Amino acid sequence: MFKIAIDGPAGAGKSTIAKIIAKELQIEYIDTGAMYRAITLKALRLGIDMEDENAYGFLSSTELDICNGRFIMDGEDVSEAIRTVEVTENVSTPSKIGVVRSYLVDYQRKISDSKSVIMDGRDIGTVVLPNAELKIYLIASVECRAKRRMLEREQSGVFKSLEETMLEIETRDHKDSTRKISPLKCAEDAIVVDSSDMTIDEVVSEIIKLVNERGLIKMSEKNEKYFVGQTVTGTVTGSNSNAVYLEIEEGVKAVIYAEDMLEMPTSKLYVEYTEGAEYTAQVKSIGKDKKHPDVVVLYLSTKLAYEKEQALAKEQALQEKIAAFHAIKEADEVINAKVLRTTKNGAELTYNNTKLFLSYKHSSLSEEALKQLKGEEIPVIVLYVNEERHFISVSQVAAEKKQKRLAKEAAYGAIEVGQVLEGEVVSILAYGAIVKLGLVSGLLHASEIDHFPVKDVKKVLSVGKKVTVKVIKVEEEKIGLSMKALTTHPWEVLKEKYHVGDVFEGTVKKIIPAGLIIELTPEYSGLMPKMEYSWLVNEKYEGVVNEGDKILVKVMNIDDKKFRVSLSHRETIENAWSGIKLHKGDLVEVEVVKDVERGAEVVYKTVTGFLPVNEVSSAKRVTNVTDEYAAGTKVNAMVLECDPNRAKLVVSVKAVELAKERESFDSYMKEQDKENTGSTIGDLLGDALKEE
Ligand code: C5P
Repeated sequence: MFKIAIDGPAGAGKSTIAKIIAKELQIEYIDTGAMYRAITLKALRLGIDMEDENAYGFLSSTELDICNGRFIMDGEDVSEAIRTVEVTENVSTPSKIGVVRSYLVDYQRKISDSKSVIMDGRDIGTVVLPNAELKIYLIASVECRAKRRMLEREQSGVFKSLEETMLEIETRDHKDSTRKISPLKCAEDAIVVDSSDMTIDEVVSEIIKLVNERGLIKMSEKNEKYFVGQTVTGTVTGSNSNAVYLEIEEGVKAVIYAEDMLEMPTSKLYVEYTEGAEYTAQVKSIGKDKKHPDVVVLYLSTKLAYEKEQALAKEQALQEKIAAFHAIKEADEVINAKVLRTTKNGAELTYNNTKLFLSYKHSSLSEEALKQLKGEEIPVIVLYVNEERHFISVSQVAAEKKQKRLAKEAAYGAIEVGQVLEGEVVSILAYGAIVKLGLVSGLLHASEIDHFPVKDVKKVLSVGKKVTVKVIKVEEEKIGLSMKALTTHPWEVLKEKYHVGDVFEGTVKKIIPAGLIIELTPEYSGLMPKMEYSWLVNEKYEGVVNEGDKILVKVMNIDDKKFRVSLSHRETIENAWSGIKLHKGDLVEVEVVKDVERGAEVVYKTVTGFLPVNEVSSAKRVTNVTDEYAAGTKVNAMVLECDPNRAKLVVSVKAVELAKERESFDSYMKEQDKENTGSTIGDLLGDALKEE
């Protein structure tokens, strides 16, 4: 393994020469100028202030790669884009910035670490590869370089005058060689090659000659056997207080310095490591012997393997942790992380010995509030895991949301049909109200508020009102509530209180043409129809009964379908006339009670009748009935009129007498007919009437 460094001013032909040599020696060509150009391109695209060292934060996330001779930046082939005039004119600025240089130098060393390379640039022999086996400093006159650059550009269709190109080259040379960090200069051990009057082939041959003279190919063959990290065993050839020297094979020596030993020896190294003893260690780096350039020197370390193992274990542990965080993220798990400190952008938390970042954007807590929580645990959800940077960002807002959602789900899960809960009206709708029951809400439909229809919900409920409700439906997250389910239907209450046949004293609520409205319960009233007031048709309540009066009524019917109760007042009164069925001409025995105007009151069974004074006798004129029949006398009388509905019974004693007389007259006439067959009935009747 060997390295060739080619430095020199712009346009000296470095890249052309380096490419050919790389091909011939079958080693890799690394164009470092392309890297400075790529960073310049990105800086131009980002529009940063290129003079400002702090503006190059994008470096750590910039990925550079060389693939089949093409230059790739962040996955984009920029081989052409980095050669524009704009990039060329600006490249000197990022090239003088410390962070840019140290970033690129590190990168250049890393990619050339384990292989033979030819690298061109401005500081390769001096800074990047100070141990390069061959260093070339390629120069050419300004005019010559300008002409070459013009030719190169003309092929891509860009035309500039010789003067202009010379000025451009001189300016860049000046900037590159006068900058503070890593200026363009010839390394002490570099061989200067002036290509002004040489062809490309001549320059290439010159350099190949130097490669051969130094035995680089031979050394390389030997060298290729070894690589950094390899475990090798050698024989101790000597030692001093700082190092132990070994021979690995012919032409390959090794050295191990005290600081590269895992355990620093307690006494002088030469006491512990005797000549001829075998010693095993790992290759830390590969170089060449200063006096004998064809001798490979391996710099060994016993720390390396240990450190590597440690680093590997650390990396593995880290990866395991990262994997665990991936799993946490996948499961959308809420974890409790401890607040460590707050910074400008967010808070640093720790969970399972791993640092997490909570940006203020993802926190519902202010910077101050988070500061107060230092040392306390807060619930978070993993948002993003970057394996390479071991960066994990979390969200406290998302955790809060999830916890709320879970609590809500649990609350919904706990709701069951039949439960009686306390709630609060949170909104009034046209068809009901939303009632909040802790974390969940349900719908109290207007038809479920009361047993009677509620037309305007606002009249019975208002936002903030506390209500007791019964759960009547649970469908996923839809909860149906009822207030009416918690109260007995007023009709049932009524039916508990009133039964058919019950007699009670009711209050007259209203008098209507159809009858009396009697109050039953706060919700219901009963109707006593007009005809149910009295047994007597002409007995009316108008003028007798007033609204608010008490009246004795009997429950006649309870209609469950129509929710109606019918009542009767007369049914509470005995009907004396109920058994009285008399017709005009019937003979009855009545008892004289007392004289009344134009007659006397008589009693027939359960009812009272009237005997007019002119119906007492057919023979004489009577003034008072009791003159003829003392009170208490029972007399036979004939019914003149009987109307139970009007409680009317009129009797006549006279009619009985007349009937008797007629009867005796009739029988007499019959007798006469048998004796005097000569006189006609008409004659006899005529005579009788005359007599009267
Ligand atoms: O070699 P090339 O002309 O492509 O380089 C472009 C620019 O990159 C140079 O002018 C110089 O400013 C910078 N550069 C550097 N160090 C390097 C290579 C290039 O500063 N090793």
